[in-house]
Amino acid sequence: LHSKLPEVGTTIFTVMSALAAEVGAVNLGQGFPDFDCDPALVEAVYQAMRAGHNQYPPMPGVPALRSAVASKIEALHGRKYSADSEITITAGATQAILTAILACVRPGDEVIVLEPCYDSYAPNIALAGGTVVRVPLTPGSFRPDFDKIAAALSPRTRALLINSPHNPSATVWSAQDMLTLQELLAPTDVLLISDEVYEHMVFDGVEHQSVARFAGLAARAFIVSSFGKTFHVTGWKVGTVAAPAALTAEFRKVHQFNVFTVNTPMQHGLASYLQNPAPYLQLPAFYQAKRDLFRAGLAGSRLRLLPCAGSYFQCVDISAVSDLGEADFCQWLTREIGVAAIPLSAFYGKGFDQRVVRFCFAKKDATLHLALQRLRKL
Ligand code: PMP
Ligand code: GLN
Repeated sequence: LHSKLPEVGTTIFTVMSALAAEVGAVNLGQGFPDFDCDPALVEAVYQAMRAGHNQYPPMPGVPALRSAVASKIEALHGRKYSADSEITITAGATQAILTAILACVRPGDEVIVLEPCYDSYAPNIALAGGTVVRVPLTPGSFRPDFDKIAAALSPRTRALLINSPHNPSATVWSAQDMLTLQELLAPTDVLLISDEVYEHMVFDGVEHQSVARFAGLAARAFIVSSFGKTFHVTGWKVGTVAAPAALTAEFRKVHQFNVFTVNTPMQHGLASYLQNPAPYLQLPAFYQAKRDLFRAGLAGSRLRLLPCAGSYFQCVDISAVSDLGEADFCQWLTREIGVAAIPLSAFYGKGFDQRVVRFCFAKKDATLHLALQRLRKL
């Protein structure tokens, strides 16, 4: 078979999780919590199933969930999205991003990604026949380099993908960053796909700057989020896309032939659970405490901590600890030290090795303590 994705193998997350399971390592690789969600959320889904919400929902999603999402965006970011025509429920952020790309990218179109970036973006663009244009984030700080983004824009640029809080670097864009981007894109018709799955994991009192807050960006944007991240249910695969009606109409044309709909009882459960804002409003403090625990535990080691402003990832520089490259180091760390991590090179197009690896701290404190005990030996 002539592969459409000849350079793609099994994702690094699957590979490292399998290795961690095989050798019994603490898995700080793949990003997912090792603790359960709020029992009230499970109860809400159970109630929905018991009430018979077990057949296809409407194609764009259960109306009560779309309304709850629209209300939440308005309350947090001051922009009104129509639940009917501007919010769609997806099978996680992964499907949302693929569907947005399939809906707007034609063969030959260029799509800009900022490297390092989540591993699904480039294959998604390739599947749409688009050309991936890789613009590096500033080495070391992982800040957006707007001069480089400006230089990458061309008459063929169809879309730009951004992600704040950022996986893997844990950087967060400021309001000024968003304003700069808004100004940069103003004279263009470039679409924006804003991956905001870590929107509720921003630390140290800083606010998440959603694209929804910036009229000139929101008008051209698909804003993507994921209940998996926000409510500790990565296995449910339920996400959202907010986009102006014209963009949503195109999105739904693809969505209806992509998944058609997303599982019904989870949507009802999430709609009722979202009525209480406390769980997501408490999330920054919840994860900040885990970040601080993990950083304090590594402070005395030879792993050099990079800043962590958001997301549930902590990156470290390994150069004082080992001569191995990132990928070999992660294999060694998993097998010999008993802690799994992800090499940053997995978020780049071609073998770029800066001796940095990523740990996920969305774990029980006991799990973090066990990992730290092992990592402090380095
Ligand atoms: N984007 C980013 C940046 C992510 O980290 C993830 C999850 N690892 C996703 C998208 C996919 O989210 P979901 O699990 O909802 O498909
Ligand atoms: N988003 C998660 C991460 O970055 C992994 C999701 C996946 O396994 N595809 O670790």
